[in-house]
Amino acid sequence: MTNIHPETRRFLDRAAKEKLLGQRGIVLWLYGLSGSGKSTIANEAERALHSDGRLTVILDGDNLRTGLNSNLGFSDDDRTENVRRVAETAKLLAGQAMIVFVSVITPMRRHRSMAGEIIGPDFHEVYIKADFETCAGRDPKGLYAKAREGKIGQFTGRDSGFEEPGEAALVLDTRARSVAQCAADLLGYWRSVADGHRRD
Ligand code: ADP
Repeated sequence: MTNIHPETRRFLDRAAKEKLLGQRGIVLWLYGLSGSGKSTIANEAERALHSDGRLTVILDGDNLRTGLNSNLGFSDDDRTENVRRVAETAKLLAGQAMIVFVSVITPMRRHRSMAGEIIGPDFHEVYIKADFETCAGRDPKGLYAKAREGKIGQFTGRDSGFEEPGEAALVLDTRARSVAQCAADLLGYWRSVADGHRRD
């Protein structure tokens, strides 16, 4: 590390990019069980912002596991490293003025705290709430059926823990609210935390 000298002054700064895009960088970190609705809600919210002329990106856990995180499994250590890499990536992108949606299970409170520590004030945690039975009933990827057959080890909520948040910035209850309502609630939250995120 002693021979590494990060550039802090010569590169174009964040403010220049935020001015170019007319938006502020932010990370909306969506977490919850598999099948809770993270990707569905991120997709819906991203499309609405895109239509409104905003530059957005979704960092999706499953997609990243086919590339950047393809060497990681689901052990405790690998889950921690998965979250660390996604958090570092989200931080880089928010620093380039992007509106970043993260869609990653992020099962334990310590994972969420680590992401918050890495990202800093741009980090906003959003709990996508759906209990195990609800997610098993939806089973959009067929994973709960496979887990029942013993074909998946370390399945979140079954063999591997998931901690509900003590206090999340925002909770989207997907049993009580439709996809459209959850996306609208997320965008309402985004507007409320981001006065500076508005294009003037
Ligand atoms: P995750 O990304 O959390 O693994 P997905 O978004 O892939 O979950 O799948 C969630 C499933 O739940 C989808 O089939 C979606 O249509 C369904 N669903 C039902 N109600 C809701 C809701 N209110 N919000 C999000 N998804 C919902």
